[in-house]
Amino acid sequence: MNTMEKVADWCNQRGERFTPSRQLVLQLLSEQPHAVTAYQLLDILQQQMPQAKPPTVYRALDFLQRMGVVHRIDSQNAYLVCDDFPHRHDAAFLVCDGCGNVSEVNPDHLQFELLRKEAADRRFVIEHTTLEVRGRCVDCQQ
Ligand SMILES: [Zn+2]
Ligand SMILES: [Zn+2]
Repeated sequence: MNTMEKVADWCNQRGERFTPSRQLVLQLLSEQPHAVTAYQLLDILQQQMPQAKPPTVYRALDFLQRMGVVHRIDSQNAYLVCDDFPHRHDAAFLVCDGCGNVSEVNPDHLQFELLRKEAADRRFVIEHTTLEVRGRCVDCQQ
């Protein structure tokens, strides 16, 4: 199954509608080599759907985030498709300050238990954790 089929399946199971505009937004986002902002995505979307408006993109992105298909990189105000969908919990990204490239850390390699323990000790309820690690990718060193 490709990503589109997997997402369609996942939405079905959860009784959510994977509408044509949601599909198109995901398709276009998955074709981008980098994380993109909602407005960049709107420009791309309008080439195929000239009537698309900002809410079309924002609603689709909200939905896809809720489904654990898309991550938002807060420091870039940008979005990218999850490498390991569906991914609804902790996530970490390596963000290059040189070229803006974002790569998702393999979730199997994340150890957020200590963070969760620390939060629990303070009776803090975590709703979601996204760790953004800033630095330089291999292409941008020197
Ligand atoms: Zn992910
Ligand atoms: Zn770079």
